[in-house]
Amino acid sequence: MFIDTHTHLYVENFDVDRDQVISRCKEQAVLKVLLPNIDETTLTAVKQLADDYPDTCFAMNGLHPCHVNEKVVSTLNRLKSDFSKYGYVGVGEIGIDFYWDTTFAEEQIFAFKEQIKWSKELSIPFVIHSRSSLDLTIKIVGDSDCIPNQCIFHCFDGKLEHANKIIDLGMKMGIGGPVTHKKSKLVEVIRAIDLKHIVLETDSPYLTPSPHRGERNESSYIPIIARRIAEIKEVSIEEVAEVTSQNARDIFSNIDLSF
Ligand SMILES: [Zn+2]
Repeated sequence: MFIDTHTHLYVENFDVDRDQVISRCKEQAVLKVLLPNIDETTLTAVKQLADDYPDTCFAMNGLHPCHVNEKVVSTLNRLKSDFSKYGYVGVGEIGIDFYWDTTFAEEQIFAFKEQIKWSKELSIPFVIHSRSSLDLTIKIVGDSDCIPNQCIFHCFDGKLEHANKIIDLGMKMGIGGPVTHKKSKLVEVIRAIDLKHIVLETDSPYLTPSPHRGERNESSYIPIIARRIAEIKEVSIEEVAEVTSQNARDIFSNIDLSF
C-alpha cells in the first residue's frame, strides 16, 4: 500500500473523470494522497477534493514559487488567514524556481522564508518545490529555524552531495516519474542513499512515468515509480511501499496516514 505525497488531482485536467481516477488509486493500493496547493485560484478545489474524500485526500495551503509576483505580501496574507478556517495538513508547495523566470526572484525568496515560518508556527510540515535553485533552497532551509523531519524536497533532482545535505538537515526527498526515465541521473543517487530518506510522489498531472510519458499523469501510477526504485535498490516493491509510507507518516505525524 502506497502514499502519493504530492499530487494535484484537484486541477481541471481531472474534472472529467476525477472519481474514476480516485477509484483507480484504490485499485492500485494508493490509499492516501496529499494535495499541495498552487495559488489562491486553486485553494477552493484543493479543499473540495479533501472534503469529498476525507479518508484519502489531504489538503495543503501555500503559494507555489512560479505564482509569486509583485502582490506577494497581500497574497500571502490572504492565504495565511485561511489556515484558521480550514484544517490544512501542511504548507505547500513553497520554494524557489529560477528555471522559468527570475523576474520575482527576491519576492520568491521572501515568500519562501515567510511560509517556512508558517510551518513552524502551525506545527505542520512543509513541501518544497526547487528548480534551478537547489543550493540556495537548501541554504535557506538550513538557515531557518524550521523543525527537522518536517519537510519534503519534492521532485528531488539534485546530485548526491545535495541529497546528503538534505539528509543532514533531517529532511526527505520526493521521488517521482523522472526516476523511471532512461538515463535518469537519479538512479545513482538513489542507489547511494538509504530508502528511509525517500517518499513517493507523482506530481500529477505532470512528470508522467515511463511507459506513459506524454500522457496525463495520475496518482495510480505510484506503483510504477515504486517498482523502479525497488529495482535500483535491489529490494522488493513491498519493502519500498512499507518504508516510504512510514517515511511519509514520520513527516506528516500531525495526521493519520495509517492504512
Ligand atoms: Zn507540485
